[in-house]
Amino acid sequence: MTQDTLTECLECGLLQRNPALPPGGVSECARCGCVLHRDRPDSLNRTLALTIAGFVLFIVANAFPFLSFEMQGQSTQTTLLTGVMDLYQGGNWFIAAVVLFTSALAPGLQLVLLLAVLIPLALGHMPPWLPRLYRWVRTLAPWGMMDVFMLGILVSVVKLSEMATIVPGASLFAFGALILILAAAQAALDPDLVWSRVPLKIDPSRPVRPGDDHLVCDVCELVMHRSDAVRDHRSFGLALNRLPRCPRCADVLHRRKPHTLQRTWALVAAAIAFYLPANLLPIMTMTSLGYVQSDTIFSGVLFLLDYGLWPLALVVFIASVVVPLLKLLILVFLLLSVHWRSHWRPRERTRLYRVLELIGRWSMVDIFVVTILVALVRLGHLASVQAEAGAIFFCAVVVVTMLASMSFDPRLIWDVLEREPHVRNPERSHRLATGVP
Ligand SMILES: [Zn+2]
Ligand SMILES: [Zn+2]
Repeated sequence: MTQDTLTECLECGLLQRNPALPPGGVSECARCGCVLHRDRPDSLNRTLALTIAGFVLFIVANAFPFLSFEMQGQSTQTTLLTGVMDLYQGGNWFIAAVVLFTSALAPGLQLVLLLAVLIPLALGHMPPWLPRLYRWVRTLAPWGMMDVFMLGILVSVVKLSEMATIVPGASLFAFGALILILAAAQAALDPDLVWSRVPLKIDPSRPVRPGDDHLVCDVCELVMHRSDAVRDHRSFGLALNRLPRCPRCADVLHRRKPHTLQRTWALVAAAIAFYLPANLLPIMTMTSLGYVQSDTIFSGVLFLLDYGLWPLALVVFIASVVVPLLKLLILVFLLLSVHWRSHWRPRERTRLYRVLELIGRWSMVDIFVVTILVALVRLGHLASVQAEAGAIFFCAVVVVTMLASMSFDPRLIWDVLEREPHVRNPERSHRLATGVP
């Protein structure tokens, strides 16, 4: 496939050679240092085996209770979905929807989509719907948060250990194993290998050369001539959609993420507006034997410290207090640096963005703690937990900052350097020296 001899870095936009990799080899961007491609030996078979195992564990994890709560002779059991139902019935539909999506729907859908893609590939088939289905595996990936949910379970068990007995159920073990299996499946999957199996209707005798008017697909990373983009709207069933689309995965093509600065600023502004009520208002109220206590995000951390559990207190403090604030500060800094056409350390700024994408989801831990406590502690007057307004604002901060970092295009950091060649720019000369032939 001659079209794949050039690749474009999705983080800095540099067009460069795509070397053939030895088994287990890794290629990095010549300019920003991000990983471009990684060879994963026996990728399809290993991923399929892990996905089948994951699917079975997913069903077990959802079918049985994962924790039991026993207090003064009374007990309650909770499945993964009990908390979602209780939140919904208590009027907190927004938190219920977010928890349902991140702890069950997104990982479940990801497993089903992977099976639907990998089984035909293993049998040597390439159904026409496969690329469009596979596209969603990547879209769903950041929203699956079973590992964060597990941390939430740990914090909840610690919080309740003083007032009641907590008994782990069968599904808790399935849940733990599922997290490991999902991580292994993600590490085994080689997306390039899947994409390389999709037949292309592009003229192989006309590969893209440096300087050609080209487009790159943000999803399957195909580099193509602008004229090779599909504009036939009828083939995708959307009568009004005349945007250029990728001939391989059918994703909409654009040189940079559309309206990236406006969108990111709007989302950052919304997150800043939610940040104060999220931290000042209580996120839950716990009633136990007539004693009522409201917890904010910060008092939850102090509670763990009071019990001498400083490693867990530190983890929750970083995930819930430091990470959301740091994410907002980094986003504002990146946005301003693009507006001011800054030339300062573009490589480090791109790395900051990469960190931002990795850490954001862990802030969800306190929302999961509230969900688990609401589901477990429901013994009426004896003991109960209610979600409060702070949790809604906090959940909104996490979701909105994740959307903000997704809508920011890190290639803008490098565009400034390319448009002003008169300014001395080591990255540009580096690119000319090593990047494109
Ligand atoms: Zn790069
Ligand atoms: Zn594509």
